[in-house]
Amino acid sequence: MAEYIMAARNARHIPKEDKIFGINKRAKQKIAEKGKDAVINATIGTLLDDNGNLMVLSTVDKMFHELTPDEYAAYAPIGGTPAFKKAAIRAAFSDHLPKGYVEAVATPGGTGAIRNTIANYSAYRDKVLTTDWFWTPYETICEEMGRTVDTFKLFNAERKFNTDSFKKKVAELLELQERLVIILNTPAHNPTGYALTVEDWTNVVNVLNETDKEKKITLLIDAAYIDFAGDEIEYRKFLPVLDNLNSNVLPLMAYSMSKTFTLYGMRCGALICIAPTEEIAAEFKRVVEFSARGCWSNSPKAAQSIITKIFADESLHQEVSAERAEIRNLLLRRGKAFEEECEKIGLVSVPFDAGFFAAIPCEAPVELCKELEDEDIYLIPHSRGIRVSVASISEEKCRILPEKILEVMNRRK
Ligand code: PLP
Repeated sequence: MAEYIMAARNARHIPKEDKIFGINKRAKQKIAEKGKDAVINATIGTLLDDNGNLMVLSTVDKMFHELTPDEYAAYAPIGGTPAFKKAAIRAAFSDHLPKGYVEAVATPGGTGAIRNTIANYSAYRDKVLTTDWFWTPYETICEEMGRTVDTFKLFNAERKFNTDSFKKKVAELLELQERLVIILNTPAHNPTGYALTVEDWTNVVNVLNETDKEKKITLLIDAAYIDFAGDEIEYRKFLPVLDNLNSNVLPLMAYSMSKTFTLYGMRCGALICIAPTEEIAAEFKRVVEFSARGCWSNSPKAAQSIITKIFADESLHQEVSAERAEIRNLLLRRGKAFEEECEKIGLVSVPFDAGFFAAIPCEAPVELCKELEDEDIYLIPHSRGIRVSVASISEEKCRILPEKILEVMNRRK
């Protein structure tokens, strides 16, 4: 049968089923058959407790239930309510005051922010640069708009950020195109758990400052997991390094409220610019709001109302942060447990710092994941290996998983 019947292909390769949600569906079927203790479902990037139930910040939950119709049912302005935009900037940068003109535009989650960056700062048929381990929806977003993803190697032989590969790829792409969007997902990178250090950031800035000043570069920091990496101030110490960028480089941040405020389904986020001039900031607001209007129009108001209230009340803000710190510690314990067990048995993982995911490099990841499914273990294959969501399984399961993965890997040799 033809790939499409009525739908236009438009140069896209649309699979019959979303990869992650498809595997998760099979895991759920197996859980219904055998019970949750018999199955390891480490597929989905949502924080679940040890019994597999969604973990929600109770302060946020309470606020949601107290919203008035004006706070949830009314339209928000296209770019977000003014108070939300202020709160989003504070949430993203904490106490750091960037040197530059800061503007925020509301988006439905971090995904909307990534989408509008690519729509406005890359050209049709451009390549968008990211790390070789990357969140696959970057590809979907690019494909939707006639762009493609190109990658550089995230790690070098010393298991550190690969500045040389980054430099080479930036130079190569700037030979081919007039502008370049670069996406760096850090800290708590999906799928590896890596965080660029301040030194890595300095190297990134140095590489970009050596480029031809006639070329336009947009550096998008996908900070979806920033508040689950560890101490909020510590993990924002890279921000002042961005102040040293040349004026042909525009730093943007895709800030997501999905994880930070456990509002995954409420679709709330912001795209924030740190523009070198007032004109570039005004242009940012104009073009990004235009894209929003033509894509989803207004972002949902309910989550904007919740975030606004949190940042208007310091004690409430402290309460939310304290509650988050508790679940973040649980997540960190799981990630470290997984890493520790990998080390003990000699299963090579990629450098993990924090976050929802850890990864194991391997050959034939699709086949390996299929075989693991026969053992009632559900993981996500990536082009370079397999991804384990430590966010969705207990510490106990994080401890037993490495041995099971190694067993199946050895069987395949
Ligand atoms: N970026 C990365 C790397 C992610 O993993 C996610 C969510 O899984 C997002 C961005 C955006 O998430 P959302 O659109 O749900 O806020």
